[in-house]
Amino acid sequence: MATLTIRNAQKSYGNIEILKGIDLDLDDGEFLVLLGPSGCGKSTLLNMIAGLETISGGEVLINDRVVNNVHPKDRDIAMVFQSYALYPNMTVGRNIGFGLEMRKMEKEERNRRIDEAAKMLQIDHLMDRKPAQLSGGQRQRVAMGRALVRDPEIFLFDEPLSNLDAKLRVEMRTEIKKLHQRLKTTMVYVTHDQIEAMTLASRIAILRNGEVQQFASPQEVYERPANIYVAGFVGSPAMNFIPATVVNEEGRFGVSFERTAHGNRGSVYLPLPEEHQALDEWVGREVVLGIRPETLTHRSDAEIALNPCLQPFECQVEVLEPTGADTLTYIEMGGEEVIARVNPYNASSPGETMSFMVDMGKASLFDPRTEQRIN
Ligand code: ADP
Ligand code: MG
Repeated sequence: MATLTIRNAQKSYGNIEILKGIDLDLDDGEFLVLLGPSGCGKSTLLNMIAGLETISGGEVLINDRVVNNVHPKDRDIAMVFQSYALYPNMTVGRNIGFGLEMRKMEKEERNRRIDEAAKMLQIDHLMDRKPAQLSGGQRQRVAMGRALVRDPEIFLFDEPLSNLDAKLRVEMRTEIKKLHQRLKTTMVYVTHDQIEAMTLASRIAILRNGEVQQFASPQEVYERPANIYVAGFVGSPAMNFIPATVVNEEGRFGVSFERTAHGNRGSVYLPLPEEHQALDEWVGREVVLGIRPETLTHRSDAEIALNPCLQPFECQVEVLEPTGADTLTYIEMGGEEVIARVNPYNASSPGETMSFMVDMGKASLFDPRTEQRIN
């Protein structure tokens, strides 16, 4: 059980700054996901926590103790790598227990831990095999078993599922979640997959070019993204971004945009809910309106009657993409292509004008210059 604090952590290779002052603070038992595209510095940060990389500036603290100069084996952490890093000539059982063997743990206790981990990961029938005789998913479990037997203060995972096929990845994701619920050990998990981040994390840190863009719960990141980068990175299909102008009509703030393409004419005005009342300085100026596809759907007057944030408008349908559960409906708003998520039974045909509604209570506004969220 451990807390983890990262204070102004920096990493440079020569003149190149890889991490530019990272601040993160984890409570005991949290599941932190470091999310970002390849090359943004996720593994570097994880390796700094593990002690496998030196720290150019700042501090890493485990249980309020600075560990910058503590050797990896004395940090009481266990790491699972993307490559699994199993010993090819050792059996599964020996692979799992080898770290304990190196630490001179007595055989009885070692075997007890190996058995327990193997049962938990459902690989107890594979203990005498060599890694070459295992599937990718089984190898992944062995790598996790090796971390489990250490019973560490913190688990570190570096893209542990990226070598697995899509179906297995989803299964193992659930396994890792169950494992965390059961062990309640602090975990730090690196991935570029936003769904893994959303499903596993108690908090997500989204990195870009060695900087944290937002550090918050998955729900907060999804509903109140700190900037356009975060908004576009999390969610599939991605958030729609529409250039719009802030207007004040009789004391009520709203946004408006022109429609020009595909037979659409005239301007659309969408009032904002009451909480967007600090927009005075933005009146007459351009903003980026962010709308998640699932908050834009076919018009239902019954729902509009119950929720004043739902705003109706009409628009011509361009393309339909049925996904089964819903039909992605492409329309044009403010000159941008926008995706609405529509129930298949309510979808219109391409070329038809359809009635939509958008939940402006869930809309985000961004400054087009700084790309930061407005209020
Ligand atoms: P991620 O895990 O997010 O894909 P990494 O942390 O592996 O990213 O790498 C971040 C950046 O640091 C990359 O641009 C990478 O090229 C650079 N980098 C990593 N290791 C070294 C190194 N030993 N020397 C120089 N640059 C490195
Ligand atoms: Mg990496």
